[in-house]
Amino acid sequence: MDKTENYEQPLYRRVALRFKCTQCGRCCVGGDDHFVFLCAGEAETIRDYLQLSPAWFHRRYLTRSEGDLVLQSAADGACVFLQNGQCRIYPVRPLQCSTYPFWPEILKSRKHWNLEAERCEGINRELVVPINKIEAALRQFRRC
Ligand code: SF4
Repeated sequence: MDKTENYEQPLYRRVALRFKCTQCGRCCVGGDDHFVFLCAGEAETIRDYLQLSPAWFHRRYLTRSEGDLVLQSAADGACVFLQNGQCRIYPVRPLQCSTYPFWPEILKSRKHWNLEAERCEGINRELVVPINKIEAALRQFRRC
């Protein structure tokens, strides 16, 4: 436990969090324990966007991690939809992608936030993110 933390208020209410996406694509490349999880209905939204048959879409793009539906990834950990550094399904990308880095586990503490900054060059950069935007992301997670 970090004894300098005040746990009465969430991190984003105590500290002005800065984030500006540089479109580096690193958050689209995971590792053995990083997956893009899908909320209910997201697979169908992506399939519809790509205009693919259900069987082909499932075989080519989806898999499971401990029972949860996730996107497939390449051998190097890159998301199956990352192409030349760009997301092929950007307008319908999963909630996990559109809310990054405002995930409950990253917002747990300053230590977690700064650890994530080692992976994401956009964290602690430029713009202070409004609290209402962060809370909107967290609300979406609760509904997922
Ligand atoms: S769906 Fe798009 S934004 Fe999400 S990890 Fe894959 S390439 Fe990145």
